[in-house]
Amino acid sequence: MNFKNQKLADIMATVEKRNPGEPEFHQAVREVLESLEPVVEKHPEYLEKGIIEMLVEPERIIKFRVPWVDDNGKVQVNRGFRIQFNSAIGPYKGGLRFHPSVYEGIIKFLGFEQIFKNSLTGLPIGGGKGGSDFDPKGKSDAEVMRFCQSFMTELCKHISADTDVPAGDIGVGAREIGYLFGQYKRIKNEFTGVLTGKGLTYGGSLARKEATGYGLCYFVDEMLRDNGSDFVGKTVVVSGSGNVAIYATEKATALGAKVVALSDSNGYIYDKNGIDLDLVKKIKEVERKRIKEYVTVHTDAEYHEGCHGIWTIKCDVALPCATQNEIDAESAAILVGNGVKAVGEGANMPSTPEAIEIFQKNGVLFAPAKASNAGGVATSALEMSQNSMRYSWTFEEVDSKLKAIMQNIYKNASKAAEEYGMKGNLVAGANIAGFLKVADSMMAYGVV
Ligand code: NDP
Repeated sequence: MNFKNQKLADIMATVEKRNPGEPEFHQAVREVLESLEPVVEKHPEYLEKGIIEMLVEPERIIKFRVPWVDDNGKVQVNRGFRIQFNSAIGPYKGGLRFHPSVYEGIIKFLGFEQIFKNSLTGLPIGGGKGGSDFDPKGKSDAEVMRFCQSFMTELCKHISADTDVPAGDIGVGAREIGYLFGQYKRIKNEFTGVLTGKGLTYGGSLARKEATGYGLCYFVDEMLRDNGSDFVGKTVVVSGSGNVAIYATEKATALGAKVVALSDSNGYIYDKNGIDLDLVKKIKEVERKRIKEYVTVHTDAEYHEGCHGIWTIKCDVALPCATQNEIDAESAAILVGNGVKAVGEGANMPSTPEAIEIFQKNGVLFAPAKASNAGGVATSALEMSQNSMRYSWTFEEVDSKLKAIMQNIYKNASKAAEEYGMKGNLVAGANIAGFLKVADSMMAYGVV
């Protein structure tokens, strides 16, 4: 799409020029700037005061060497990142991703999206993201520990409970957060809420582990109900089999749906009787094995190599919960052809722009990641509140706050879409609602 507003077009061109070879970041910025066309028409001051130009440039990029010694005594060197993108409404907040595909462009796209997502939660958190090209898969616990300790030895110079509060993401779960927090505490000699997603014995929040997947289902449920439907009796396909996918499966099932498929980066399983989640948890959370192990127990279920084919399974609701750009135009067209009614993004940016267009043109209800997967970071912010109070809420207390937050995000995104003449377009609505709060704060600060 070409921009109607020349100034927005110029900003996009500068982003592409300044960040060459970072297509994911360009994709994320373009989507937001397109949504902002009607906003700057009504409020030209956001352009006149340079707010959007400031918004697309990270406040700070930290890039560092992470040397560590493997089990064979060999020195390994990875690269670490933390991008502190925007602190207009609170300390930088966003996860750490450990995956071989990580480079600056991935962290930048994730950090940029985090600004709007965090704003949508209604909680006081800015946007940031970090990670490394380290691959925890196939490494021993001792290797993961040595890597995490080296990573935190540098990162601890740049973060604190009031400055920047990282959490988990792909490849960073409870084990990694434990090693990272232990090293931070050791170096800084302070016990503060500097990381979220912590274990329950040392400051973690109940329901944080479940929050992104549960939150996704609360959001999609709200979207379905607003359109006269719900999860009851629906067939659901979930991609991935990590933290988000597992708890999305759990909540969708509790809300009356049947989840029939899950995947990992090697392939997908299809169980027409409904996924046996206890078995999946055992395989993925306890044994850290591949999803194909599932069919050695459930011999009537199917395993297929390659993760793309999961979108050929007929379903009413699709919940992509693995990674960016996992649903392309071809998969979107197949899903539509098979009668999909709703798509809820659990992963960050899992649908390509072409796929989103296909869903929207065909009347598929579409929940964009910035809104629908905000439950994880929202609950992280609740973990920060509990740490500040040195107090813990019960699972039910956190879960009910999470549900209310997700319902509010849905309402605010819908309302913004309608106000700016794009009723039902939650992509635009989420971008606009998230933008306004951050932009107004930046306006108050002047040029900083
Ligand atoms: P996990 O590491 O727990 O799980 C990731 C899952 O996705 C695994 O099944 C993994 O398979 C699969 N996967 C990862 N990369 C690829 C790839 N390139 N192709 C196919 N499959 C892939 O991560 P999370 O569940 O935490 O994160 C999943 C998504 O949700 C990410 O986009 C993340 O940014 C987003 N998210 C996570 C939040 C959280 O609270 N954890 C919050 C908000 C968003 P394999 O094991 O084979 O690698």
